[in-house]
Amino acid sequence: MILVLEKGITQDQKKNIRSILFSEGYIVREMSEAGQNIIGAVGEGGKETEFFEKLPGVARVIPISTSFKLVSRQMHTEDTTVQVGNVAVGGERITIIAGPCAIESRDQALKTAREVKRYGAVLFRGGAFKPRTSPYSFQGLQEEGLKILAEVRSVTGLGVVTEITSPAQADMMMKYVDVVQVGARNMQNFELLKCVGRIGKPVVLKRGLSSTIEEWLMSAEYILSEGNDNVILCERGIRTFEPYTRNTLDLSAIPVLKTLTHLPVIIDPSHATGIREKVSPMARAAIAAGADGLMIEVHHDPDHALSDGPQSLYPKQFGQLTRDLYVIAPVVGKQLDFDYLDKAKAVDHLSKTNGAGKQKVAFLGEIGTFSHKASTQYFGNQVTAVPTPSFKSIFESVKNGDVDFGVVPVENSLSGSIHENYDLLLEYDLRIVGEIKLRIIHHLVGHPEAKIDTIRRVFSPPIIFQQCRQFLDQHADWELMPVKDTAAAVKAISEKANSADVAIAGKEAAKIHGMAVIEEGIETNPRNFTRFVVIGSEPFEKGPKRKSSLIFSTGNQPGSLYEVLKIYSENGINLVKLESRPIHGKPWEYMFYVDLEADVESEAFKPILEMLKAKTDYLKILGSY
Ligand code: PEP
Ligand code: MN
Repeated sequence: MILVLEKGITQDQKKNIRSILFSEGYIVREMSEAGQNIIGAVGEGGKETEFFEKLPGVARVIPISTSFKLVSRQMHTEDTTVQVGNVAVGGERITIIAGPCAIESRDQALKTAREVKRYGAVLFRGGAFKPRTSPYSFQGLQEEGLKILAEVRSVTGLGVVTEITSPAQADMMMKYVDVVQVGARNMQNFELLKCVGRIGKPVVLKRGLSSTIEEWLMSAEYILSEGNDNVILCERGIRTFEPYTRNTLDLSAIPVLKTLTHLPVIIDPSHATGIREKVSPMARAAIAAGADGLMIEVHHDPDHALSDGPQSLYPKQFGQLTRDLYVIAPVVGKQLDFDYLDKAKAVDHLSKTNGAGKQKVAFLGEIGTFSHKASTQYFGNQVTAVPTPSFKSIFESVKNGDVDFGVVPVENSLSGSIHENYDLLLEYDLRIVGEIKLRIIHHLVGHPEAKIDTIRRVFSPPIIFQQCRQFLDQHADWELMPVKDTAAAVKAISEKANSADVAIAGKEAAKIHGMAVIEEGIETNPRNFTRFVVIGSEPFEKGPKRKSSLIFSTGNQPGSLYEVLKIYSENGINLVKLESRPIHGKPWEYMFYVDLEADVESEAFKPILEMLKAKTDYLKILGSY
């Protein structure tokens, strides 16, 4: 059952409730959900619901209707994220776990780990205790394999995942690995489930070959009931009558699980299909269907793998797949982050050198804006996001060192460039250290009782009215009320009991302020993306740099822009953006902003940079990222 606590509950009342629940034999979890304090209590106490309802400090009691309790969505309406070092599984990031089926040797593990890391995996997998169908197949290197995994972690920085097949391995798992996997064949090995519940490390719980979703969730319940909430569910195909694939991937388990449980859900398309060529299509589909991540078998030389070679991807194929996923993720509101570990390290490094606790990032507007979402998607929970009233004040805060980074939008795929930020990039001596693209979905947000035909006024920034033109044209009698940011608009309407006022905003803002979505997806074109740049005063030292941004001006003679562009062309450098802005105080003279696919600060680029300097009047490197 769920005990919703009164707003003004005292500490003593809470203590009393907890001790009564404990003495009645309940497992107790205290949580805060959407601004409400709740206590989840699971067990078979002898008392009726009314008894708990009458306890001082309890507002109401909601029974949990499903057989699984701790894992249920009723218990915890927000998504759980499982933290593995710097990696958060669940929430708005896509986590890619990759590596060979089995650890075969130090060389094989390290080679494969370097490849998968390079292509975007953030955790490394590899079996040391292999539950093979035949006793004559390779059984794994056992403790030797775990030692290799620990070495992979220290060399590459990737957290490591491996299967535990017996409670007797618990101490070794504690010593060598970051995540333990309970394999499909052991999903209902209850002693093993209790064991991984007690050791407390994050667990990947695979679905049994012939298990229902309910049985699977009951297995997860075993782990949580032992006090370990860090469970990641992994669908890996179930056994059906279909022989063309090794198993049948149950993709519908994703949306089913998403309503039943708060736990993150990942997909293993390798064991599901058993065939290399089928892995990538199913991986792409899984992300489109809302999975929080993937576990994929990759081997540096799959043709000589000791187990599951035919389903293991070649590193290059894995690289192709992550490129596709990088594009798909923002469409479903998530991010796949190639450089995440390096970024996290840079943040870590800064926090050490600054001596501060958490790092800070400034974004425009209030909590719940798209800029806020961009900040949290880029940095995860490594930093504190600081609401900031204007773009200029974001630049100022970064310059003064009040925050470590700023996140500012520079371009929208429908409404074009945000010129103010281009001008600020020129004016301030800061660097672009990263970029992130978000899909922007607008909703009409209002009081739950608001109806389309009673709406009179709509609040949002003018640029958003522009993006929702078609929808707004159908309601020409509505008064458009321009405001600075979407979240502030939702906040303002939530504070007045007037259902004739609504806002256009993202669903995060609606959720934060307890408002309802009255009409979903009202942007004219669904291909609505905004590109944000991350600004800082020093570059991240680590991480591959694929792109750079420059500003330049040329002399006002015929062919001078052509001369500059020719340098890019002759050196095979791809320009991905070219934009001109008037130079203040010099009518009809322009600055050019370019984004190019190269690291302009690398050694290799130096001669090209010299040529560019020779052909420009002004050249400023905004950054490589
Ligand atoms: C594995 O991940 O290597 C494995 C054996 O998976 P499953 O338990 O899903 O068969
Ligand atoms: Mn395998």
